[in-house]
Order: sequence, then C-alpha cells, then structure tokens
Amino acid sequence: MKIKKLIFTLTIGIQSIIGFSQDYYLHCGTIIDVLTGKEIKNATIIVSKNKISKISDGFIPKSSANDIEVNLKNNHVLPGLIDLHVHLENEQNPKSYASKYINNEADVAFEAAHFAEITLMAGFTTVRDLGGTGVNIALRNAINKGIAKGPRVYTAGKSIASTGGHADPTNGSNRSLMGDPGPHEGVVNSPEDGVKAVRQRYKEGADVIKITATGGVLSVAKNGKNPQFSIEEIKAITTTAKDYNMLTAAHAHGDEGMQRAILGGIKTIEHGTFMSEETMELMKKYDSYLVPTITAGKEVALKAEVAGFYPDIIVPKAREVGPQLQSTFAKAYKKGVKIAFGTDAGVFDHGKNGKEFGYMVEAGMPALAAIQSATITNAMLLGVANEIGQIKPAFFADIIAVEENPLNNVKTLEKVQFVMKNGVIYKSL
Ligand SMILES: [Zn+2]
Repeated sequence: MKIKKLIFTLTIGIQSIIGFSQDYYLHCGTIIDVLTGKEIKNATIIVSKNKISKISDGFIPKSSANDIEVNLKNNHVLPGLIDLHVHLENEQNPKSYASKYINNEADVAFEAAHFAEITLMAGFTTVRDLGGTGVNIALRNAINKGIAKGPRVYTAGKSIASTGGHADPTNGSNRSLMGDPGPHEGVVNSPEDGVKAVRQRYKEGADVIKITATGGVLSVAKNGKNPQFSIEEIKAITTTAKDYNMLTAAHAHGDEGMQRAILGGIKTIEHGTFMSEETMELMKKYDSYLVPTITAGKEVALKAEVAGFYPDIIVPKAREVGPQLQSTFAKAYKKGVKIAFGTDAGVFDHGKNGKEFGYMVEAGMPALAAIQSATITNAMLLGVANEIGQIKPAFFADIIAVEENPLNNVKTLEKVQFVMKNGVIYKSL
C-alpha cells in the first residue's frame, strides 16, 4: 500500500513539474483540406493543449492513459468556421426598439453571453462583432479568460456613425432623450471627430473599426441607402485605424456611400446591396472584400411581412433591401469581387449562421470557395492566417465535424455535430 501511495505522490509531483498532459486523438473519417479541397481519409489529429500538434495517417491509438480518443470516423472534419459579421449583444425581435430604454448593461451582458455560446455550438469558433454598446468588449474578455463560452471575438465595440445616421444610438428617441452624442459615443461629423472616435474605440479595447457608410434598414430613419460620411471623414478614420493595426469595415447599401468607403480605404464592404458594376471594378482595384450577409437579407424580408414585427418606418426598407442581397452577391462573385463570409447574425437568430453557405452556393459559388471564404480568407483578413482557418500543425485546435461531405452538400454545415475551440471540446457526438 505504502509503495502504491508513494508512486501516486511521485506521479502527481512529476505532473505538477512537467505540466499535466492530456492529448486528444481525433480519429477522423475524412478531413477536408480547405486550402486545396483534398479529402484526407482515415487520419488522426493529435491535439496538445490548445494547438494541433500532428496529423497522422490512420487511426493512431492514444499514447498514455491520460489521453482521450475521439471517434469522428463517420464524420467530415474541417477547421472551425469564421463569421466576419455578427452582433452578439442582441437578437432582433418586435421589442428590440424599446429594449435600449429597459435593459441595463448587465441584462445585455447575460444575453450576449447566451448568444455567444449558441454561435460557438453552431461551429463558428471565431467571429468579428460589428457593433454593439461596448458590452461586446467585456464579452470578448470573459471568453478569453474562460469564464464565458463563446467563439474567439474580434470586436468593433460601438460602431461609428454620423448624426442621425445608421448606428447613431439616439435615433428614434424622443427629443429630450436624443442629446447630442459625439465621437466618444461613436458619432462623428468631421475628420477630426473621426480620428477621435477611432482612438476612443482603441482606448476602450476594440479590435476593429466599423462605420455605417450609408443608411440602414433597421434604424428608425427614412433612408436606407444615402451616403452618411464624406470621403474626408472616412479617410481620417481609416488612416487612424491603420496606426492601430485595426481592420476596417463599412456597412453600405447605397452605391455612392459604398464608393466613398472603398476610395476612403475601407477593407470590407458589408452587405453591398445596390452595388453597381463600376463599384465592383473599384473593389477589385482597391482589393476590398464583400461581406454578403445574404441570410440577413432573406430573414429581414420575411419578418417585414409579419405585422408589427418592425416599426412602420422600417417595413418598406426591409422589403426593398432584403431580396436584393443574394442577386448582388451573385453578380459580384461572377465579376471576380473577393468574398469574405459574414452573416449579420443578430439581425436574425444566432446560431443560424451556417445558412449563409447554402445561399452562397445557390447564387453560383462553389461549396469549396464558400468554405474558404469562411476559413482561410477570414483568418487572413483578421491577421491570423498562421493561427486559425486551417487544420495544420501549430495552428490553434479549432476543429468542427459534420455528418455529410460539405463539398457535396454544403447545408450539412447548418448542423455541426462536434466543436472544439482552442483545444477544448464544447460539443461532442
Ligand atoms: Zn450588422
């Protein structure tokens, strides 16, 4: 007995010195190499701590009693998906317009944590949050600390608008509550304000910058398309963002605002609804990326037909913009505009992000290209192409599994069955 106890004590002692090692051996029926589209049959991914350490042919048995084998022999395995356009703080419903007067920050935080978990469980292991109140920054920190479950988050904090523009936080308020928000609150009306607003976002801990270059569908305002920034204001914002190495995104439905955003140096154009052929050429010339958000368009158009779902001022905009997104995407893709996967989840129910793949393929994009846009392309835009977006040794262990081959049926990505993020299993078969 004494010897057994001694060995046990020694083992614990050694483990505490060298660190407790528990590797995962993922036995994969098929790994999809998202770079080439090649299918690797019957292979083992070995995960040590939070990284992929090795990929071997065949099903390698675990090497020590502490290790864990995971049976994914009947699955197709891919890198975790990346959505470049979500809003984790909220989910649109008929009460949304009143909620900003009712909810405290803590209420928003609990909801945001819930939506983050749903997003992760849907196989999205990384997201870019394009605008909320700033709770999204605290959420990112909580996830990074391991006290909330969610994807890796790159957040814009509060998005930047102009007075009365899409994302002016006081839109739709009665006049006594409107006040006069400025750069601190993300409302700018000059290049100087733009510089200040970016630096304020940086100070608050944002990772990326989002502007609302044109009107929007869901703001309580008449126009959903007009330009809402001057090109000088946009340039001031993008050059400042560059100083802080922050990726820039512009919400844009109308063509003029979109052109100003591209010429002003914005990297990703969100929605791109009424994009002209001339603007598509401009995007290619300036190496800008379109984030299509087709799912948001489809869902908004549906909700516009539900009586009372949106305030009256929103309904005609939703009917006009919603159905346009998929056809613009089809044209832009065909013309060679670069595509970055993004859905605008929050405008519709979180966790349905995977629907976007089906809409992209329906519009003429091959399944592999759609998957690449949600992995390799988005990792590159976020500046982490050597860390996420592929299943490769030394990459973070962000791994998902689905039932069918997504290259044959991309809709299988709507039902992700296994999720590992940063070496931790969040969803298993
Ligand atoms: Zn959005």
